[in-house]
Amino acid sequence: MQKIKDLFSEKFVDNEIETRGWIYRWRESGKIIFIILRDSTGIIQVTVSKDMVGEEDFNSAKSAGIESSVIVSGILKRDERAPGGFEVLAKKFVLVGKSLNFPITKDKSDEFLLDMRHLWLRSREMTAILKIRSTVFEFLHDFFKREGYYEVQAPMFVSSAVEGGSTLFEVPYFGRKAYLTQSSQFYLETFIFSLENVYTVAPSFRAEKSRTRRHLTEFWHCEAEVAWIGNDEMMKIEERMIMHILDGVLKNNKEELILLKRDISKLEDITLPFNRMEYADIIKLGKDVGLDLDYGSDLGADEEYAITQKFEKPTFVIHFPKEIKPFYHRPDPQNPSVVLNHDLLAPEGYGEIIGGGERIFDLDELLQRIKEERLNPEDYSWYIDLRKYGSVPHSGFGLGIDRLVWWIAGLEHIKYAVPYPRNVRRLVP
Ligand code: ATP
Ligand code: MG
Repeated sequence: MQKIKDLFSEKFVDNEIETRGWIYRWRESGKIIFIILRDSTGIIQVTVSKDMVGEEDFNSAKSAGIESSVIVSGILKRDERAPGGFEVLAKKFVLVGKSLNFPITKDKSDEFLLDMRHLWLRSREMTAILKIRSTVFEFLHDFFKREGYYEVQAPMFVSSAVEGGSTLFEVPYFGRKAYLTQSSQFYLETFIFSLENVYTVAPSFRAEKSRTRRHLTEFWHCEAEVAWIGNDEMMKIEERMIMHILDGVLKNNKEELILLKRDISKLEDITLPFNRMEYADIIKLGKDVGLDLDYGSDLGADEEYAITQKFEKPTFVIHFPKEIKPFYHRPDPQNPSVVLNHDLLAPEGYGEIIGGGERIFDLDELLQRIKEERLNPEDYSWYIDLRKYGSVPHSGFGLGIDRLVWWIAGLEHIKYAVPYPRNVRRLVP
């Protein structure tokens, strides 16, 4: 039994082969049925003629609809007219699972394809995206393994917010209120006292009501936390990580990127170091491109889209005003009105894929910031504890993995980067 991709080889020409998959295209022309067969590795033309397969198999091929699963054996031939230059002349055609009236036909609406995601995953576009996504996860883990990190797991049921109350999903919890985690950061900070360098890959949940190209309510979050390092070192780690993943995709998924019509040169041209820009300068740049921004404005999807349109490299935005960032970011000792943080903006209009920075490690400073933000210290008691028993300087980040796939694959909307996207309206399939 051969995988379809392996058939594209001179060594099989005029030889017997056997392969299996699903019917991607079907066409009858006189006494011959032309089938394009698909498996996880590719597509190939199969010709079924009554003379070669006999009446029974021919009738099977005739009745098999689009997406039927089949096993074919026959002779591999060169044929310049066939896609890829090879075809299989069937000698035996076995219908394994019939498929009648496959609901997805040409030119269906986006909503329909989302309703049919369980079947649309078989499309060549989704298959390509899923392969790229798999490479991204693989090289992400590979990066941390190479750099000596421990992988850890934090709970998904939590009792308080990390990123602000408005996007918390509340769930009933045995007569109490619990929430789905927005970020594992606080838990990750607890691990550094034993493991020093840790990371996790897990879903995060945010009740995002805004409709943007980049927000889901459930997304895959890679978070890392590292003891004894500051913001600059953290950014260097992230650069290496993103480059490692980019290299991995460029090495393993050229075919998929081409199928998705991604301009590959834009990815190939990216080199280290990434750009670094002060928040204050980003605001100036935003004004130059016509945005209504002031120092102190937060940057959302629309603003970052306009700002990064002409960027060719990922760009770190550093030194945000402390008022627009969560309380745990460490104010810069040189200028305490800004924090030692960074957002990493992907180029070509994609915008934020990472948020990170140095955490406050001094107990009094943390309590002060909690007070300033009018938060209740009791809600953060165990987090505050970490500053009482051998606190150390440390930094971390959160990477939206779906956003990384969205940018690398050059997709229009994040919903295409995820097999089963979740947003305000969508919970099925
Ligand atoms: P945004 O400003 O886009 O809402 P954020 O600043 O709230 O994002 P962080 O809290 O910094 O996001 O989360 C870390 C990373 O997680 C982000 O850089 C992004 O890549 C990803 N992320 C955050 N929210 C979402 C979401 N709703 N859907 C997909 N990815 C997300
Ligand atoms: Mg952020």
